[in-house]
Amino acid sequence: MTDYPALHLLIGGEKLSGGGRDAIDVLGPATGETIGTLSSATTADLDAALDNAAKGFRTWRSTPADKRAAILMKAAALIKERAGEIAVALTLEQGKPLAEAKGEIIYSAMLLEFYAGEVKRTYGRTMVRPEGQRVEVQYHPIGPVAGFSAWNFPALNVMRKIGGALAAGCSTIVKPSEETPATGIALVQALIDAGVPGEAVQCVFGVPDTVSRHLLGSSIIRKLTFTGSTAVGKHLARLAADDLKVATLELGGHGPVLVFDDVDIDKTLDTMVAAKYRNAGQVCVSPTRFLVQEASYDKFLSGFIERAKAIKVGNGMDAETQMGPMASERGPDGIAAKIADAVDRGAKLGAGGERIGNQGYFYQPSVLSEVPTDAVIMNEEPFGPIALINPMKGEEDMIAEANRLPYGLAAYVWTNDPKRRRHLTAEIEAGMVGINSAVVSTADAPFGGVKWSGYGSEDGREGVMACMVPKTVHES
Ligand code: NAD
Repeated sequence: MTDYPALHLLIGGEKLSGGGRDAIDVLGPATGETIGTLSSATTADLDAALDNAAKGFRTWRSTPADKRAAILMKAAALIKERAGEIAVALTLEQGKPLAEAKGEIIYSAMLLEFYAGEVKRTYGRTMVRPEGQRVEVQYHPIGPVAGFSAWNFPALNVMRKIGGALAAGCSTIVKPSEETPATGIALVQALIDAGVPGEAVQCVFGVPDTVSRHLLGSSIIRKLTFTGSTAVGKHLARLAADDLKVATLELGGHGPVLVFDDVDIDKTLDTMVAAKYRNAGQVCVSPTRFLVQEASYDKFLSGFIERAKAIKVGNGMDAETQMGPMASERGPDGIAAKIADAVDRGAKLGAGGERIGNQGYFYQPSVLSEVPTDAVIMNEEPFGPIALINPMKGEEDMIAEANRLPYGLAAYVWTNDPKRRRHLTAEIEAGMVGINSAVVSTADAPFGGVKWSGYGSEDGREGVMACMVPKTVHES
């Protein structure tokens, strides 16, 4: 595969691969075939990365803020300049349509630009005291950060792990997903090319549990940041707790969408159907449980099915493709099992429900309705191209259903009643609420969840402060 780049570790600014290291095959989701080979970091590689991170932390935190900001801005410019070629690698390794891949890379660069601006705004404060006395609150970078990110957003997830940390003055070691390594390598390389010391930003790969145990087992690392499933997030939080490392966890969700009779149903559908099938539904903030007020239910369901059936599924490299394959073999198998379970329990399949072709990991955009709450899919994050649509009476039973699950990442509300908007915003347990909108993420606003969706924030000012610790100085 000529357009897919060579893969390597980035340790201390050096590109390392081969040399007897274990090899990991990277498969293209459109074909299921090997597109690249990745080297697994050895124990010595991980130890070298840790030593570098300790050194890189001292260098980077003492680099003047305006210089750090300028370097991060330059890296953002390089990422934008290289967005076309990085997008090709992203689509080949992850599957999403090329335009979506490019959009994700540009958004990652914009997030870095935002963080670059925040470098100069990590203010402390001074308390009023009698003359000669002072109490000063200073904010310091927490220390080297270990980041582990998932394959669904190979660029954005990586930038979320490293951008805030670098802005705060921390060094970072990131382990992007072994399933989508090229994009993360390209972002880290852009940071190094822009002037971030190779000891301050490093990229490793390997057997995930081996790498995370090794890095989190070192007292050099002072913070864990992870994007992935709740089960792995809990496991990593336990490892981090052994050394009382701070953690930011961005885990799964099961997005409820509350649709009331007072909205324009066609407009709601146009927005939310596109949001549902974006990235083949492999999005932590994906709208999943559609709770529709009874009078609009039939129109909503038939409109949803019609739009789902019209989506063009294909290779992400083809310009007309609207939805690519799922990212790995786990995707179609997992969705098929969950749909079969729901249908067994009485749910109605309105669209999809089948794999497409016998090559790659393609799955039809699917719709289930009248899904009983004991179906597995109503309780576990489906993470695929499937919408669950159920009729509801009104506000209170919608709130109860929205809050029924232990997840609390994104929720969506469609209503034109301002009083109802405020009430629902207060009552729904979620880290982010989209009102008459599918957008719940911008570079300048915190992104994160509550309950089993994790804790701590990425993006926004909060994403930087999450990598800093206060130090209070009392002077008399
Ligand atoms: P997973 O949690 O097993 O893997 C997610 C990422 O974490 C992968 O890149 C993996 O390499 C890494 N990982 C796994 N175990 C690790 C460990 N011990 N130490 C460090 N990193 C580790 O999830 P999955 O099997 O890829 O997907 C299963 C489910 O997880 C999905 O169906 C979805 O519900 C959820 N998920 C959520 C997100 C998100 O954006 N929050 C992303 C991916 C998966």
